[in-house]
Amino acid sequence: MNHLEHQLDYPWGEAVPEPGRTIELAPGVRWLRMGLPFALDHINLWLLRDRDEAGREGWAIVDCGITNDATRAAWEQVFAHELDGLPVLRVIVTHMHPDHVGLAHWLTERWGVRLWISATDWNAARMASQATTGFGGETAAAFMASHGLTDPAAQAKIRARSNYYATMVPQVPRQFRRLLCGDVLRIGDHDWTCLAGHGHAPEHISLHSESLGVLISGDMVLPRISTNVSVIDLEPEANPLPLYLRSIAALRALPPDTLVLPSHGKPFRGLHERIAQLHAHHDERLADVRGACAREPQTAASLLPVLFRRALDLHQTTFAMGESIAHLNALWLAGELSRSLGDDGVIRFQTR
Ligand SMILES: [Zn+2]
Repeated sequence: MNHLEHQLDYPWGEAVPEPGRTIELAPGVRWLRMGLPFALDHINLWLLRDRDEAGREGWAIVDCGITNDATRAAWEQVFAHELDGLPVLRVIVTHMHPDHVGLAHWLTERWGVRLWISATDWNAARMASQATTGFGGETAAAFMASHGLTDPAAQAKIRARSNYYATMVPQVPRQFRRLLCGDVLRIGDHDWTCLAGHGHAPEHISLHSESLGVLISGDMVLPRISTNVSVIDLEPEANPLPLYLRSIAALRALPPDTLVLPSHGKPFRGLHERIAQLHAHHDERLADVRGACAREPQTAASLLPVLFRRALDLHQTTFAMGESIAHLNALWLAGELSRSLGDDGVIRFQTR
């Protein structure tokens, strides 16, 4: 545990569910984990005891895992041992990232049930899974080059990843039910309020149950790592950092003892402390960027050693580039930095 995690309370300590098994965290709320083929090697998913309109008992699934045989096999174990013999009644997805929506197509077909997701993320997921250009590939490589990531090996790898999303999300259900901020879902015996968050995904939905004292935070609030807040090639002048900070600030309205169920890491209490930590983290990163840009003009790539003081693989480098651009855009769009396009086609930022 790092020193910030010591300020949080992990009620289940080091316990994590075995593959294909669950841990009950609150009445009718079960925690499961699926593997991921990244440095971030797992995602947490949730089962909520549910009842359909006809009064049939069953389960709602929250988030899915990526599409591969191992995740399907782990789900079959869950179906066999962890559902008390009851069916899945719906699939809820917090946002469009592959580890969350990946297997929604298979789960909804397997059980003949509806996908519930925000309209923005459903559209973004459909587009990303079907696009042959515009996600990764040439456009992403050109965008990264314009921000100084010109290393030929990195450029070649980014160009080669044109169907990266589709490998993990080959399909998205053709129909969905829309989740909107403020919607209240009756899931089993409890109400869950949808809370939209921005800056990480287009329209991320977290779910809060007042009666259970539980927040399914998705990727908006994570206990150990900071949520990825990135600018990507589709919206080069995006300003996601203030959106993210505002979204998590709004979660201060929830009770301080709320049990937070994050998509990565372990369930914890200390929501307000964690929000304060994340605000402090980004304030520090913004101060680092201000300092570097006051010394000399900077590109997003030249800031990587300032923002990330560790070695990064390509997957992490593209995320880190997105984060670096997000911090630069925040200061540029707030009027603190100016930016200019050099003869070499690279954008540089400097203090106004
Ligand atoms: Zn995500």
